[in-house]
Amino acid sequence: MNAIAVEPGAGEPVLVEKPRPEPSSGEALVRTLYVGVDGTDHEVIAGHHGQPPDGEDRLVLGHEAVGIVEDSNGTDLEEGEFVVPTVRREPNGANEYFERGEPDMAPDGQYAERGIVGAHGFMAEYFTSPAEYLVPIPERLAPLGFLVEPISITEKAVEHAVASRSAFEWEPESALVLGNGSLGLITLAMFETVLDIDRTYCLGRRDRPHPTIDLIEDLGSTYVDSRETPVPEIPAVHESADLVYEATGYAKHAFETVDALAPNGVGVLLGVPEPWEFEVDGGRLHRELVLHNKALLGTVNSHRGHFESAVDTLSQLPESFTDDLVTGVYGLEEFEAAFETGDDVIKTAVEFGSA
Ligand code: NAP
Ligand code: BGC
Ligand code: ZN
Repeated sequence: MNAIAVEPGAGEPVLVEKPRPEPSSGEALVRTLYVGVDGTDHEVIAGHHGQPPDGEDRLVLGHEAVGIVEDSNGTDLEEGEFVVPTVRREPNGANEYFERGEPDMAPDGQYAERGIVGAHGFMAEYFTSPAEYLVPIPERLAPLGFLVEPISITEKAVEHAVASRSAFEWEPESALVLGNGSLGLITLAMFETVLDIDRTYCLGRRDRPHPTIDLIEDLGSTYVDSRETPVPEIPAVHESADLVYEATGYAKHAFETVDALAPNGVGVLLGVPEPWEFEVDGGRLHRELVLHNKALLGTVNSHRGHFESAVDTLSQLPESFTDDLVTGVYGLEEFEAAFETGDDVIKTAVEFGSA
């Protein structure tokens, strides 16, 4: 079968031939339909994040997949059922995080991530997975099923943000999303249309006209250009935010988030930056966090429950939004296009087969 693999840091993704996998006991065989591409894939390709399985040079890419159960192999799944796989797997035998159903909370070394950290991904015509890591999705949502994984990331982030504010009355009325990449825009759509937050802002660094700025404004949100209005100045120019969601991977934003927050607000950090040394006024930030009851938390990955909520969220996102978000779905004969970046690219996916 065909698969898309990369030697991280050493080249571009290429098409490789691999044997079709055989499901072990408890696993199902899935025929892949679509696999999305996100900023993490670009970080993996560049060799900045993740690594191939031990002893291998190449990693099969892809962590945002949707497929059809080809062989249920005695599991509870049904053949022909549409499923989305979760990302994390036990690295070498289960540990307490996996046993609790919270693989997303496992520290480094206690998980592998398919297509990212130490395990091959889903960019292949078939993949196998333990049935418990395959989340059913209605057939009508399957063409956009590659959006379930990124949505699940924000389901978890919002759950943790809300939990951090659960000791008092907290109802976010304003939210700021840092980053107009695919994760930022998906999150903005969730804030606007599912969470129904009154006023939202989304930060980017692109000139008008730009498709992401149109998308932001079509959602009823306000575009903020970080070159004109740096994050710490957003409260003075617009307003402070009850909820800040960082999806730029730009390390200074982690600290600038504190200044953008309203009293009692929470900032969630999603970016995975490279090491970068710079100066911050630590005393002022510390004081600001304490005297205004602000919270800053990091969050990574998501578990099965977040995927299940994400399926529901996907069904609520307006078609006008997803139509504009997904700028290209490419067959295997032109898969390279799915990895191209540019002004007219927002979210892409590779199509491995049709339903
Ligand atoms: P992406 O497509 O690279 O998006 C990042 C966006 O941030 C880009 O649109 C970029 O703008 C913008 N940006 C970067 N620096 C900026 C600045 N100084 N001012 C304004 N805008 C800036 O990546 P993505 O897929 O949306 O993901 C976003 C981040 O989240 C990545 O770091 C990714 O690794 C991370 N992530 C984390 C998780 C998790 O579980 N924690 C899950 C998914 C993704 P330009 O395009 O103009 O440069
Ligand atoms: C993936 C997550 C993963 C994270 C860190 C993200 O792009 O969506 O599942 O945990 O990268 O590797
Ligand atoms: Zn991702």
